[in-house]
Amino acid sequence: MQVKVIKFGGSSLADAEQFKKVADIIHEDPARRYVVPSAPGKRFKEDTKVTDMLYACFEKAMNGEDFEADFDRIIERYEAIIAGLGLTLDMSKEYDRIKSAFAHRPGRDYAASRGEYLNGIILANYLGFDFIDAASVIFFQDNGSYDSERTNVTLSAILRNHKQAVIPGFYGSMPNGTIKTFSRGGSDITGSIVARAVNADIYENWTDVSGFLMADPRIVDNPKAIETITYRELRELSYMGATVLHEDAIFPVRFAGIPINIKNTNIPTDPGTMIVSSTSDFSSDNVITGIAGKKGLSVINIEKDMMNAEIGFGRKVLSVLEDSNIPFEHLPSGIDTMSVVVNTSCLESKRDKIIREICLKTTPDSVAIEDGLALIAIVGRGMIRSKGTAARVFKSLTNANINVRIVDQGSSELNIIIGVEEHDYENALCAIYNEFVK
Ligand code: ASP
Repeated sequence: MQVKVIKFGGSSLADAEQFKKVADIIHEDPARRYVVPSAPGKRFKEDTKVTDMLYACFEKAMNGEDFEADFDRIIERYEAIIAGLGLTLDMSKEYDRIKSAFAHRPGRDYAASRGEYLNGIILANYLGFDFIDAASVIFFQDNGSYDSERTNVTLSAILRNHKQAVIPGFYGSMPNGTIKTFSRGGSDITGSIVARAVNADIYENWTDVSGFLMADPRIVDNPKAIETITYRELRELSYMGATVLHEDAIFPVRFAGIPINIKNTNIPTDPGTMIVSSTSDFSSDNVITGIAGKKGLSVINIEKDMMNAEIGFGRKVLSVLEDSNIPFEHLPSGIDTMSVVVNTSCLESKRDKIIREICLKTTPDSVAIEDGLALIAIVGRGMIRSKGTAARVFKSLTNANINVRIVDQGSSELNIIIGVEEHDYENALCAIYNEFVK
């Protein structure tokens, strides 16, 4: 029999009505045996996620302030769900235990993790599934990194004895037993870890959108959804800011060759997006899979005659950035020019120092920093060895009267990256989308 691991995000479990949709989805397919819930998310735009309420409550407790009223509001969220589902579940002992732990300053991660913990208990009760505390099956090492081997061995062994179970997302435990969370949005990672542990046929990640879209819907009108995307393409798009899934959620399932299906809890019949490891089973009719980009970049331009012949020139420039703890994003270069693209926010007060150090180490003819650059990545396995893609990108930008500042295509041919002025960013994205998709 097939095994599916299903993770539900905060908006899918924000209130009792959403819980009912979740239960319908789970009961519809007996293969959906292992469920990973987030904490209740926003019910409406101005609402606050329970995780954020817990962080705020914890801050008050840490400052010795009265957190009673804040904590009561968190309890109200859960009690409304319990009442709305008609459950006879008494959670008062759980609330008391957490509240008294708060008074003893249990750590920020413990506080945040209680959102998933409580939601997991309620969901397990509602579904009639077993509840497994993530602290007993997801482990971190002393240095704070996730302990994949210990977790995988323990989790596989334990889940073998549970036909159906709910394992709360987002947290695990340290070797000394204290609670540690992944970074925000980390329930996606727990889902992936559980999928690997049971060697699932598929990891379904249910959220409030019907998968990845081919472009940012705030910029392109009604963009199409991506049906199938490879892990590598996804990585390129997420780097540029297309976020639906936590980036680290890819690794456990990718390792095990398990596909991820992003689905919409509110429109379960939509196919969503399939994330797969190999392109061979999923050839693409589209030349491009998606377009993403980001603003807020700066270029450090360095010029020096005969730069190409000077051994160690690039290393010296990059060592200046390394010394200032600045990561670089791209390195488009000419014969006697080198450009380093960095996030403007990383430069902060370090600008003068960087220019000074580059001058000292490389004696260039000129060096200057220019802000206001945006990068756009056009990603697609369909463009590998297909002719004319770059020509179409440039034609669409020329027709839209947009100047291209930077061009970068790796030899993998999986993407073309172009740099434009920030004020051209939205128009450029639309022009490229319309050229390839409409
Ligand atoms: N509840 C946590 C957050 O809001 C983790 C998650 O939802 O995945 O970040």
